[in-house]
Amino acid sequence: MEGKSIIHMDQDAFFVSVEIRKNPELLGKPVIVGGGSDRGVVTSCSYEARKFGVHAAMPGRSARLLCPQAIFVRGNMDDYSKASHEITEIIAQRVPLFEKASIDEHYIDMTGMDKFFGCMKFASELRQTIIKEMRLPISFGLSVNKTVAKVVTNECKPNGELEIPFPKVRPFLNPLSVHKIPGIGQATYKKLSEMGVRKIETLAQIPQELMYKILGEHGTSLWQKANGIDLSPVVPYRERKSIGTQTTFENDSMDIHKMKSILTGMVTNLTFELRSQQKLTACITVTIRYSNFETVTQQARIPYTALDSFLIAKAHDLFKKLYSKRMMLRLIGVKLSHLVSGFEQIGLYHTSEEEYDLYQAMDKVRQSYGVESVVKACIVKQPEKDANGKVVKYNPRLKKTSDKEEEKKKSRIRTFINSDVSQTNKLSDN
Ligand SMILES: [Mg+2]
Repeated sequence: MEGKSIIHMDQDAFFVSVEIRKNPELLGKPVIVGGGSDRGVVTSCSYEARKFGVHAAMPGRSARLLCPQAIFVRGNMDDYSKASHEITEIIAQRVPLFEKASIDEHYIDMTGMDKFFGCMKFASELRQTIIKEMRLPISFGLSVNKTVAKVVTNECKPNGELEIPFPKVRPFLNPLSVHKIPGIGQATYKKLSEMGVRKIETLAQIPQELMYKILGEHGTSLWQKANGIDLSPVVPYRERKSIGTQTTFENDSMDIHKMKSILTGMVTNLTFELRSQQKLTACITVTIRYSNFETVTQQARIPYTALDSFLIAKAHDLFKKLYSKRMMLRLIGVKLSHLVSGFEQIGLYHTSEEEYDLYQAMDKVRQSYGVESVVKACIVKQPEKDANGKVVKYNPRLKKTSDKEEEKKKSRIRTFINSDVSQTNKLSDN
């Protein structure tokens, strides 16, 4: 651990900063991206707005109460995605090993490089390059692993840079509140508070076994982070896997409507998977194989998203471009790649709080009852009827125990979804 040098780079109030670059009059003012409509959600806010207690994912209504003078900006994911790709390019040109962690965060593994250049000097110069070329503020932390580096960045934000070398890790972490540990949720924070654990130092001193007893694996992981331990590697950007699914038809088909509803079902599953992992995608690929085994693929770069509606439209669009021959199809597939962490950003597409809540509610049902328990109406076939012509009610509880072969006969679409899910799991990365 002592030997590692990890840089965590994070844009300051990224979306807001992109808006200020477009409209410099916003500089120094409480600016909020998203949440402008009556029932919208805050996606990003300037440091001036944060002083009033405004934060991301908060209903715009509450933000307006806390900070009535705030300037609301609608937000444009295309602009943010473009800036994000440009920042990644600058980093990619200068470092051999980096990970794109979110739309505005990168980890860089400088281990071993410190023999050739000072890591701090290198990181500082890289930061200045990004500031100069992008005209966007950025901060970084340099330390012994990803977790500590991220905490360091958060402490020196905005417009900051700081190095915490190995001997200083413990003294640096100790006085901080436990809520500064990356990945700690509200519930865990509350539980720890009730236990009287407020500072990282206190958490670090609890026996590891006790933390496991109280919070399971998550407890162990928190204990390790509190002790400045994090063995997770920097995952190279280009090696990041995608999530994808494909299906081969029992009988080759030319039914375009059927193809489209299959695509819809596939994308719905993939976006559910994406949101479960709290990820966004910036690239969609559709593949089709004709009955003569000729295989064609179309890819599209898209603004970062995890939304069904947007990706379904894109998938249909790509399919339309691909399917040029009047020939039977034997296979169809969809892949989402260039994945980064993020979730709040979906609030930008659907500024409505209801839609935002709807996605969370639908995903919750799917997590409990299976991915096909909530599906778009357009991919559902006529309801099942029994021998007397009575509609058979779909019971997700029964489904779990039902015979796979029986299920297969019930609904082709569901079968596609089921088989896709097992493939999706195999292909997905964490
Ligand atoms: Mg940021």
